[in-house]
Amino acid sequence: MDRISEIFDRLKSKYPAARCELGYDSPFELLIAVILSAQCTDKRVNEVTNVLFKKINTPEQFAVMEQGELEKEIYTCGFYHNKAKNIIAASKDICEKFGGKVPSTMDELLTLSGVGRKTANVVLNVAFGQPTIPVDTHVFRVSHRLALSDGKTPDDVEADLNKVVPDIYKPLAHHLLIFHGRYCCKAQRPDCSHCPLTDLCAEYDKIKTDK
Ligand code: SF4
Repeated sequence: MDRISEIFDRLKSKYPAARCELGYDSPFELLIAVILSAQCTDKRVNEVTNVLFKKINTPEQFAVMEQGELEKEIYTCGFYHNKAKNIIAASKDICEKFGGKVPSTMDELLTLSGVGRKTANVVLNVAFGQPTIPVDTHVFRVSHRLALSDGKTPDDVEADLNKVVPDIYKPLAHHLLIFHGRYCCKAQRPDCSHCPLTDLCAEYDKIKTDK
């Protein structure tokens, strides 16, 4: 097995439950949850959406909301002015341009307020089952440590991962890298002693020497 397949194979064994940790029941709920998750933990987003989606969960309902009313519901997620503004504007767009349905192409998703490449890729992967690789802070860091990419920007890293990750691993790749970054290969003190990738890791020797 080649090095990159070996990395993803071992990560699959270590994280058999790797999946999106945001709660949602429709592509639209997922889109709202992903917008809320910027600079916020999934746990906090789930606390907010567990309450919010019981009251309101369609683009038609969000599109006619007062911004202040939505801000009160989501303020604990941080950046609530912008997030509320973007959610209402994106909901209006979904109603007016896409017949009330979240679109399922990158180009269309990128026309929605508050939706960048990462958010669009999460929706395409998780809601629509497309083999996209969203790059968040964990995916970015772990990809560098494992020498999967030396890209300077998330878009560069995404392009590199799309080239090097075997197709069979693409649907799960970002979940596995996120879980590894969240629970083992942490930003400050990576837990190398519990990592199954030490013999495949470009940084391991350096981190070991630095200790
Ligand atoms: S060996 Fe350490 S730095 Fe390398 S992937 Fe594992 S946890 Fe991260």
